[in-house]
Amino acid sequence: MTDQDRLVAPISQWDDARDGSLRPQRLSEFIGQAPLKRNLDIYITAALGRSEPIEHVLLYGPPGLGKTTLATIVAREMGVNIKITSGPAIERPGDLAAILTNLEKGDILFIDEIHRLNRSVEEVLYPAMEDFELDIVIGKGPSARSIRIDLSPFTLVGATTRVGMLSAPLRDRFGIVERLEYYTPDELQCVLERAAGVLNTPLESGAALEMARRARGTPRIANRLLKRVRDWAQIQADGTITMALVDLALTGMGVDQNGLDEIDRQYLLAIIQKFSGGPVGVETIAASISEEVESLEDMVEPYLLQLGFIERTPRGRQVTPAACHHLQVPLPKLLVPSTQQSTLFGDIS
Ligand code: ADP
Repeated sequence: MTDQDRLVAPISQWDDARDGSLRPQRLSEFIGQAPLKRNLDIYITAALGRSEPIEHVLLYGPPGLGKTTLATIVAREMGVNIKITSGPAIERPGDLAAILTNLEKGDILFIDEIHRLNRSVEEVLYPAMEDFELDIVIGKGPSARSIRIDLSPFTLVGATTRVGMLSAPLRDRFGIVERLEYYTPDELQCVLERAAGVLNTPLESGAALEMARRARGTPRIANRLLKRVRDWAQIQADGTITMALVDLALTGMGVDQNGLDEIDRQYLLAIIQKFSGGPVGVETIAASISEEVESLEDMVEPYLLQLGFIERTPRGRQVTPAACHHLQVPLPKLLVPSTQQSTLFGDIS
């Protein structure tokens, strides 16, 4: 299964592209992330009061939590344009120069996956961020010369899922650095109720909370579950999303009560059954279930860590008793405290 096929993948899928209407437009409509929202509100109000662009902002955290949404909200609150691009899309310094010279005073440049900018592009970005100047080299060899272009003051909003991969000079040039956290079920319930309103879908509140619990702390997943369950409600019932229908639909689609799907279960069962509960390296787990290391690190492990189902140790990944309990499988012997081993395994040594 690819990350594009997974119902609970936090990355954007083709169907999510039609989500535009579900994106909150103003800071007041943005649910959750209270400390971050309060900080942004202060910075925006202060910058507006001084008629200056807001400082450069770095947003980091797992995919699907609202980084792009926040960047568009900042632009709307500041009353400026936003240009959206991503690290891998800016291949050469000239591509970045073209974007920067087209920005107007105060505009926002949003660079998603900013950790994937290449070094030569990053070097053009430093003076642009610091002094709103662009140093570009024209020509080659002995006739090459460097020219300096003044840019309109702008705000760079960078987003990354891997803040540790950002170079120190780039990270240091952001005045505002904020981390997005996974949402609580209550917050996701509000996200779902708002989205159901936009989609004109009747949603019972118990049903919203049940879906929220299975949405892996991620609004993008919550919205996707809502759209799929809405189809079930339309075909299997009278269109209203009830608690029983959520359970029927999500269980039918392989998403369990904690939001785990087949890949999560395979991952955990591999550690438990093939590697005695761990610790075991992620490369070994990936090979044993035919998945990519990167997709396990980005799409599977963060949520299992958050649930407390695995731990990262210096020697690799280890499952916890909570994971075994959830999967209703016996604890591997290595994880059982020695005083309990005889009772759990009927061991009379
Ligand atoms: P990221 O850039 O972090 O991957 P996005 O900003 O693209 O995430 O958000 C993914 C989807 O989740 C958006 O389409 C939006 O509808 C929804 N969303 C994100 N954060 C919120 C929120 N706080 N309230 C309501 N919906 C949200």
